[in-house]
Amino acid sequence: MLQQNADVLDNATENELKATEAAIQATLAKSQRALPAVGSCHNCFEPVGAGERFCDEFCRDDYDHRAQRRQANAR
Ligand SMILES: [Zn+2]
Repeated sequence: MLQQNADVLDNATENELKATEAAIQATLAKSQRALPAVGSCHNCFEPVGAGERFCDEFCRDDYDHRAQRRQANAR
């Protein structure tokens, strides 16, 4: 009986984590879609090709991290 309750709790925590993660990903996807291509990297402001928003994946990751932190601070 006790074991059963523990399993239910475990499942609830796991589902909550998944929901939080999904929410973060959705927010991230939305913010990236809204990001305009302005001809320069949004992270380091180096010039980039037409339609590009970041010069490489590192700048994109860096920008993502900071965008997530902004989101967390806004709460
Ligand atoms: Zn860059």
